[in-house]
Amino acid sequence: MKKLALHWKILIGMVLGILFGFIMTGVDGGKDFVDDWINPIGTIFVKLLKLIAIPLILASLIKGISDLKDISKFSNIGLRTMGIYIVTTVIAITIGLILVNVIEPGNGISEETVARLTQTYADDSGVQSKIIEAGKDRGPLEFLVEMVPDNAFFAFSNNKLMLQVIFFTILLGISMLLVGEKAAKPLKKFFDSLNYVVLKMVDIIMLSAPYAVFALLAQVLVTAGDPEILRRLLSYAGVVVLGLIIMIGFYLLVIIVFTKKNPLWFLKQISPAQLLAFSTSSSAATLPVTMERVEEHLGVDKEVSSFVLPVGATINMDGTSLYQAVAAVFIMQVLWPEGLTMSNQLMIVLTALLASIGSAAVPGAGMVMLVIVLEAIGFPADKLPIALALIFAVDRPLDMCRTVVNVTGDATVAMIVAKSVGKLGKPKIKEWDDHHEEVK
Ligand code: ASP
Repeated sequence: MKKLALHWKILIGMVLGILFGFIMTGVDGGKDFVDDWINPIGTIFVKLLKLIAIPLILASLIKGISDLKDISKFSNIGLRTMGIYIVTTVIAITIGLILVNVIEPGNGISEETVARLTQTYADDSGVQSKIIEAGKDRGPLEFLVEMVPDNAFFAFSNNKLMLQVIFFTILLGISMLLVGEKAAKPLKKFFDSLNYVVLKMVDIIMLSAPYAVFALLAQVLVTAGDPEILRRLLSYAGVVVLGLIIMIGFYLLVIIVFTKKNPLWFLKQISPAQLLAFSTSSSAATLPVTMERVEEHLGVDKEVSSFVLPVGATINMDGTSLYQAVAAVFIMQVLWPEGLTMSNQLMIVLTALLASIGSAAVPGAGMVMLVIVLEAIGFPADKLPIALALIFAVDRPLDMCRTVVNVTGDATVAMIVAKSVGKLGKPKIKEWDDHHEEVK
């Protein structure tokens, strides 16, 4: 396996994992075997990636901001990034809405299927916990309040508080610029060095990626739902996947138009991050790899990537918002056709945009926010458990696909922003053992 490119190794791991998982579903005790002996390998890998996410954001963002030398450059990059993120998300939601309205996947769902899904999932703890999680009373500006930490160390100790970490880090980076080079020098040196070291940790962890994705996919297969139920939801899932594929096509077009790069080259360089996004269903866990690929393999300068990517992982979720639009309308087609008004669809655009900003970059987060989208358009509360039961069975595979789009969207925007401020250069690939000879 030595000379094979990383994305091939990961792909082989995934295919073997799927095959293995499939075989194990047919073997007596197979699921338990995968649970006990295979799944931990995947879990450890995801933990390792999450372990370095916060140190990486800290080091990389501070390096990025303090390299700028001037705050106006930072606000320039910041405003462009936010603007482009909002535009791509609205495009994603619109694609979703058009597809679901034209194809109408909800019309093929019989009452018997609804009854069967309700019976299987409405009381499921997974469904209930999503409703409870979404049900916390939130004012419209709550997401801003939640972005500001009141204890930096608490924020650093909680992966779910990534936006708080980013907030603190940006404040620290800007203050370092303001105190001047001399006073900030020791801190800058420390964070620069931390940044190099953490990126090396990514290289080391990635050595185990092909084995880890094997384990992650085998686990997905053995925990998948009843194939009969999955089959009945095929048209809904098909609309989401079609929308996601169109979205990837849109990114490639954007890459061609704005950066004049070959889209296949872009896909090849970013593919390990995409494959991990697919295997882990978490843009946050994938972030260290996305950052490494975008900086070293796509040639985006750290000044841009260190801001665009961590912020994007938490607030830019084009795949998730597209899914929310399709799921909300699909649910209405089946359970609440009278709610399918133009004004409700416009409301979906707005709430899905806000929801994708507020969704955590972890598996299944999009479904929690879907509850908020449904509540915003006045969906009957008593039907909520049935609504979630309806789409629950296919949520995991769709989560895997939408996370790929979320990550690809962040990488695309990083390329465009970098190009627009003259920070798209030549790739500088670093291997895990670059300095091995010196330290041997
Ligand atoms: N799993 C997605 C992500 O991490 C969020 C979601 O759509 O549930 O990007």
